Amino acid sequence: MRILVTGAAGFIGSHFVRRLLDNHYPQWTDAQVTALDKLTYAGNRDNLPAAHPRLRFVQGDVCDRALLDELLPGHDAVVHFAAESHVDRSLDGASEFFRTNVLGTQTLFDAAVAAGTARVVHVSTDEVYGSLDEGSWTEDLPLLPNSPYAASKAASDLVARAYWRSHGLNVSVTRCSNNYGPYQHPEKLIPLFVTNLLEGEQVPLYGDGRNVREWLHVDDHCRAIALVLDGGRAGEVYNIGGGNERTNLAITQQLLELLGAGPEAVRRVADRKAHDLRYSIDDSKIREELGYAPAIGFEQGLADTVAWYRDRPDWWKPVKHGSDGVAG
Ligand code: NAD
Repeated sequence: MRILVTGAAGFIGSHFVRRLLDNHYPQWTDAQVTALDKLTYAGNRDNLPAAHPRLRFVQGDVCDRALLDELLPGHDAVVHFAAESHVDRSLDGASEFFRTNVLGTQTLFDAAVAAGTARVVHVSTDEVYGSLDEGSWTEDLPLLPNSPYAASKAASDLVARAYWRSHGLNVSVTRCSNNYGPYQHPEKLIPLFVTNLLEGEQVPLYGDGRNVREWLHVDDHCRAIALVLDGGRAGEVYNIGGGNERTNLAITQQLLELLGAGPEAVRRVADRKAHDLRYSIDDSKIREELGYAPAIGFEQGLADTVAWYRDRPDWWKPVKHGSDGVAG
């Protein structure tokens, strides 16, 4: 079996590839993996093994049709993670978000149709649904994105639907809640706060900190993607959640405790534009259809993540001090 993974040097894509190489997903044991990544500021070649007999790393752009036409033939499946992923950056300038997330997805799917790729999973986000005060999102709710990032992902989800309907592409879409875990870029909330606290710096908390996010460990997200890859139906969307709803303030307090810092380590900053108040996922479809259930409890997962950053300044210091990100 051969699988092509886009965005494979990013946070979630690299976790998925490392798990494929560990033979963690039964249907993909001993699969040959082509890891495609442009290596933007968010991609890091060191997130993947330097060399592995079943890994081929290709530095390239999902918008490059000629490259995709050369690479895709012979692959049994594609898992599409590549994206610009940071909401704050999309507020500062959205062109790259629409180029990679929308045109890149369309270019990849055109190439997959041309190559006759048997199976595609398009990795999307719960942010496409917007924000909600109560209840939880099911897959059939309207797309009401509020940030340019979320709009570009919503558009890419519609590209997936259209390529299924128009061209018969065997593609499923996943929409996951916020991920956390090792190798996440320190521009995102949890690693930013953890690394700031490790360096004795304050953490910048948006507004009153009452925004609610649902958190899922990256390992559970990747296992859900593998389930969709194997058993998901073409043209269908699968929400993936963890059931761990927390306010940003509660997360901040947990991190202060884990790192032995006091409330003086928190610096309030002006709220993000159109900051979504609450995200909440109803993931009963993937649980009932594909037997998904998250395995990593939030408290344990967060403590393990903090321990990983504590142990790996060699990984995050160069990434962080080369970047200009703020809290995600
Ligand atoms: P990330 O920013 O860590 O990684 C994105 C990767 O894509 C990087 O390695 C980058 O170099 C690569 N990339 C960017 N533009 C590219 C291009 N034009 N061609 C090829 N590669 C390119 O993001 P992540 O957090 O790993 O997210 C991966 C996917 O999961 C994204 O599609 C994102 O929308 C989705 N998602 C993320 C979360 C989350 O909490 N992080 C939650 C739900 C869904």
